[in-house]
Amino acid sequence: MIFDYCVIGGGIVGLSTAMHITELSPGASVLLIEKEKEVATHQTGHNSGVIHAGIYYPPGSLKARLCREGLDATRSFCGSHNIPFEQCGKLIVATNTLELDRLNGLYDRAVANGLKLTRVCVDELRTIEPRIKGISALLSPETGIVNYQVIARKISDLISAKGVAIKLGCKVNRIVERPGLVEVSANDSTWNTRKLIVCGGLQADRLARMAGLDINFRIIPFRGEYFQLPESKHDIVRHLIYPAPDPKLPFLGVHLTRMIDGSVTVGPNAVIGFSREGYPKLSMNFNDLASFASFPGFWKLIWKHRSHALNEMKGSLWRPAYLAECRKYCPELELSDLQPYRAGIRAQVVTMRGEAVHDFLFGETARMLHVYNAPSPAATSALPIGRMIASKCIGQN
Ligand SMILES: Cc1cc2nc3c(=O)[nH]c(=O)nc-3n(C[C@H](O)[C@H](O)[C@H](O)COP(=O)(O)OP(=O)(O)OC[C@H]3O[C@@H](n4cnc5c(N)ncnc54)[C@H](O)[C@@H]3O)c2cc1C
Repeated sequence: MIFDYCVIGGGIVGLSTAMHITELSPGASVLLIEKEKEVATHQTGHNSGVIHAGIYYPPGSLKARLCREGLDATRSFCGSHNIPFEQCGKLIVATNTLELDRLNGLYDRAVANGLKLTRVCVDELRTIEPRIKGISALLSPETGIVNYQVIARKISDLISAKGVAIKLGCKVNRIVERPGLVEVSANDSTWNTRKLIVCGGLQADRLARMAGLDINFRIIPFRGEYFQLPESKHDIVRHLIYPAPDPKLPFLGVHLTRMIDGSVTVGPNAVIGFSREGYPKLSMNFNDLASFASFPGFWKLIWKHRSHALNEMKGSLWRPAYLAECRKYCPELELSDLQPYRAGIRAQVVTMRGEAVHDFLFGETARMLHVYNAPSPAATSALPIGRMIASKCIGQN
């Protein structure tokens, strides 16, 4: 049998793609292959759970457009399927004049992206969030929270009911593109498909090379370490609280995040991960380590951002330094408030020149489409990303 479409990767991007294929091309045969025993166990199951509104991204970029579309699509999907979400809003807080400049830049960008942000002065900040300190803030009322793993599992149930063959526990280890089809092998099985879509997250570069693509980037794993506040502090904030991020970096800084289960997390930081899928602290995988250590782009990136990288490393190894970052805007936090919580690992494309690619990035051949870079806010944007990929592939098949 030849499948019309095969999707590798049971994260939210792969699942959304399979779902949109079934919607846009009813009757097509679709196979989804995931190496873990469950869907959504990597980035989709290890994130902050924020439905982003699209503040940060350069106007005209894919991220800017797909995040805005994703905000609406995610809320409407949750509404249709009784998945809990909350539009709690978010405050980006400046604590000094440098951050105030960054806040102004963000305000302009958000307006260019069509968002309605409100400037919040010190007195208003004190009223809205009495336990947060800052000299100014931006309020994004549209930002929300959800559990993306719940969305992913729902999509998996929906597509399975529509006849998509979902193969779990199958690690793809061979991809061969031929003139009329692509052969995909995992465990002891081989499947043929007319169109292959690869949504491999942290393994995107390996899957691309496996398929014979000539790529000049590497996935660098950035660990995001979180803490959880004790129950007595779950009412510490009403909004999500973010620092004003450095626009040169692809990460948003350690934030106070209300989770949909009522808890509050602090994080994530961004330190190099020595294992792409090893979540416990100090996890190490020799192949993963060798993969970035042998890549010149990694060293260029680290050198460019050396002071930031050292600072993040310090916070990772020494909790008082991590706490100091949070206390800039939430001074009442104590060391004992930082209780253990699971880490997440971001897949970040870095080029040979040592640049972290900020936007979503795809690669294509006649019969394959690879998602190379789908960093945050790709969970927010997963529904429109999947729709975009599906429309493209259906047009070609
Ligand atoms: C710490 C952190 C915080 C984040 N916070 C947010 C947030 O608040 N809001 C937001 O919008 N985004 C956030 N993101 C980003 C978001 O989680 C990701 O962009 C999104 O989940 C990417 O989905 P994905 O399907 O591409 O990747 P993944 O969820 O990683 O899925 C890829 C899948 O491919 C499978 N796979 C890989 N190789 C193979 C193989 N050889 N064979 C078979 N299967 C394979 C993997 O097992 C995995 O299940 C965050 C990410 C992290 C790490």
